[in-house]
This record gives sequence, structure tokens and C-alpha cells, in this order.
Amino acid sequence: MLPGTDPYIRASRLLRFCAKCGRDERSVPIIRHLCIDCYLELKGRDLFPRSITLTYCPSCGSYRVSGEWISSEDMGNDERVVMAYIIESGLKIPEEIVSADLEDLRVIRTDYGEAIDASVRISIGSSQYRITRRVGLHRERTLCPACHKIRGKGYEAIIQIRGLPFINERLLRTIEENLYKLPEALRNSIAEIEHLREGIDLKLVSRHAAQSIASIIRKEFGGRIIETEEGGTGRSMRTGKKPRLVISIRIPSIEEGSYIRINGQPYIVERVDEERITLINREGKKVTMTKSDIVKSWE
Ligand SMILES: [Zn+2]
Ligand SMILES: [Zn+2]
Repeated sequence: MLPGTDPYIRASRLLRFCAKCGRDERSVPIIRHLCIDCYLELKGRDLFPRSITLTYCPSCGSYRVSGEWISSEDMGNDERVVMAYIIESGLKIPEEIVSADLEDLRVIRTDYGEAIDASVRISIGSSQYRITRRVGLHRERTLCPACHKIRGKGYEAIIQIRGLPFINERLLRTIEENLYKLPEALRNSIAEIEHLREGIDLKLVSRHAAQSIASIIRKEFGGRIIETEEGGTGRSMRTGKKPRLVISIRIPSIEEGSYIRINGQPYIVERVDEERITLINREGKKVTMTKSDIVKSWE
């Protein structure tokens, strides 16, 4: 080869040329010494991950996506959404390519197991290209941390948060906000939060953490705590299972305008102050009681 005719040298000094087919950048976009066509032909395979691993929890169906567990619902209950996300984050796109979007994927069965035919649309200059490559698919079953705690170790305690006389939306939301604000060690001890119509159940991996959380909630919202042991006698004793601590917290939730019963008598709540509650009885008379008196009358 004559000096100066080497395509690499020509490309760096003058117009950039394709080292394979010789076309220059006036007619075709160039990526790293190759035109886009030759680039995709030679290197297209490298843009895609060889294979991906779809990790899911066989118990609750959530998926692990970049280190985090995300519920199937949050992924639109469509595993292809998860696959698309994993493939897209595994694409190796040279900087000359302006954008690369996964357009389509199909899960197929091959002799070697499952695979995905993934199509990516790339934009370079003013041109667009669509390339399809096969990506291996591995599925991995792993219990997510929440399910692992429940299944593997078994949870040691349940906190049942209820309202007195019943819980309302606003109180529920405030309690939930408070749960997120718990110290991390306590928050991590919550294996599961179950939302029920009558309140919230927390399943905890530690009895001690359960007692700490219960007392924090009571300090914040008032109410009373009753602790009982569940499964400490009878059959479960013989199976050797540790009894479970059940902590019931009843938070007084008396709203203005609501209808309550005290000692069998109906009242309308007229006004709620810090501690005093003004009620109107059946005869239309005003009665004032303290919150704790009302709560006591319900016990
Ligand atoms: Zn070329
Ligand atoms: Zn799970």
C-alpha cells in the first residue's frame, strides 16, 4: 500500500472513509473507521448483550431490576417490560449514534432454551436503521428479601394498627408516612405491610423491633397497645414453632361530624380539640368528654 492511501490515515487527515467499503462520510455516516452499514454488519452483534437474566421472586412475582425489587404490577404485569429495560440498559452504543430505542422484542424457544429477538432502532445523522439480534434469556428464581424473611426465617411479630372506633383514610396515610420516617434499622425489620379495610398489618422479623415501632406509633398517635402471643400453645408448640408476638394498637380516630356510640348511646361529634371532644347527644344537648374517657368507655 502506498503511503497516504491507508484508509485510517486518509480518514484522520481529510474526509473520513469506511475502512471496509471505502465510501466516505459525504455519502454515509461513519462510526470508528467504518460506515454505518459495515459497522452494523461487523459490530452489530456487539451492540446487544449476549444474554440477559430475568430474576424474579417465585413467591410474590416481583422482578429484580438494576438491583431493586419491583412489583410485577409496577411493570404493567408484563415481563417484556422488564426484559426491555434490562436489554436497553445493556446496549453498548457508540457515541456517534444519537439514539437507540428498543422497538420490539419477541420471546422465542430455541434448542438451547429461551431467547429474545430484540429490534433496536438507531439514529445516526439523519438516517435511521433497525437491527434485530437474538439475545439469550435466562430465568432465575430468587426469593425477594421480603419473601425471604417471611418464608426463610419466619416473622416474629405482627403489629395490627386499627382505629377507634375505626380508621379513616387520612389517619391511614399519616401512619404510612410515619412508617417511612422510621429509623432504617426498624424500617428494614418490616417484612411486609398489608393494607386492610380495618387498618394496617405489619409483619416483622424481630419482636424487639416490633415493640419499638409500636411504642413510636403510640407516642405519635396516642391510643393503647395490647400484646398477645399467637401460636404459643397447642399444635404449633409441638411443631416447635416459636410463638408470634401480636401487638394490637388502637388509635383513637374521632372526626368532627362523625357518629359514634358511647356506652350504647349515639352521639354526633361536634368539635375535636387537642384533648376535649364536644358531642351532641340524641336530645341535642352538648356533652364534653376527654379523648381518653371516650377511649376507655370503648374498652
Ligand atoms: Zn462501509
Ligand atoms: Zn417476593
